[in-house]
Amino acid sequence: MYPYPFDYVRPKTLEEALFLAQDDGMKFLAGGQSLLPLLNLHLAEIKGVIDLRHIAPSLKFFESEQEHIGLGSCLTHEEVLHSEFLAQRCPLFSQAAAFIGHPRIRRRGTLGGSIAHADPLAEWMLVMTLLDPQVILTSLKAVRPLSFHDYLLGPMMTALSPGELITAIELSLPKETTYGFAEMSRRQGDYALAAAGVSVQWDQNRILQANIAVSGVSDVPLVFPAIARNMSWEYPSRDLLEEIKQAIEASVDPPSDALADPSYLRHLAGILVERALCQAFDADLNAQR
Ligand SMILES: Cc1cc2nc3c(=O)[nH]c(=O)nc-3n(C[C@H](O)[C@H](O)[C@H](O)COP(=O)(O)OP(=O)(O)OC[C@H]3O[C@@H](n4cnc5c(N)ncnc54)[C@H](O)[C@@H]3O)c2cc1C
Repeated sequence: MYPYPFDYVRPKTLEEALFLAQDDGMKFLAGGQSLLPLLNLHLAEIKGVIDLRHIAPSLKFFESEQEHIGLGSCLTHEEVLHSEFLAQRCPLFSQAAAFIGHPRIRRRGTLGGSIAHADPLAEWMLVMTLLDPQVILTSLKAVRPLSFHDYLLGPMMTALSPGELITAIELSLPKETTYGFAEMSRRQGDYALAAAGVSVQWDQNRILQANIAVSGVSDVPLVFPAIARNMSWEYPSRDLLEEIKQAIEASVDPPSDALADPSYLRHLAGILVERALCQAFDADLNAQR
């Protein structure tokens, strides 16, 4: 199908793009991997697109100051996947990016586009839920940092106001922390049925603090602070993994889904958290060798 007709503009500067975005009917076009299918399928009708192509190079940055990092919103999934900087600072990003679609989608789709689109099964939604970064929203009038938990209002619903562009995400990375990410989809490259992301901060070889997030079991990714808190001051062990897996299974209540049975999704949630934790535990062991 062809999309309904729409205007097309390709501004040369960020200011020009933000000026054009003041018109309510205009939408930013980043990688086009979500917007263009919606337009082609007549699931969206818009006045026009503001192509970010000329602005994208200035929004493809990796910044670092001590434990703080900043990532430009126009980084593609592939640039994140292959970033040496992130492999060193927070490998969770490349672990998650590897599961996004296929190479052609990863080459075009962007971090900012995915966060703006806010599909609850998108890998970046899970990563952001786990890490809770600041999402930097920029308009002609202001720069508005918002914590991801305040930014995400619901499935495909965000606090992004008309005229605002996501320009970056910024986060603090605790020291001595390892990560894990596990996902199950029906076919390689499909959106996840469910996925889990974890971070584990260590004090020597004991767990100081853990975080756990799971997608696919609710209308948005969930975090499990009480279960994660129970891991503090424990040593990593088979028994601990089993305990956490059972606690996760007991605390999720997945909705009926056309693709998977709720009891299967509950089982998946436990297994995926266990796998992600195994990765985080292994990464700590490897770091000690
Ligand atoms: C076949 C297929 C399979 C896919 N599989 C997966 C998958 O497994 N996992 C996954 O996570 N995603 C998947 N995707 C989606 C893909 O990751 C998209 O790249 C992503 O969702 C949107 O990024 P984009 O840069 O293409 O955004 P676009 O499609 O250009 O834009 C999406 C929306 O975000 C807005 N927008 C874009 N950039 C910004 C910005 N910086 N600030 C504010 N608003 C902005 C646009 O106006 C639009 O409303 C798949 C897509 C396809 C076509």
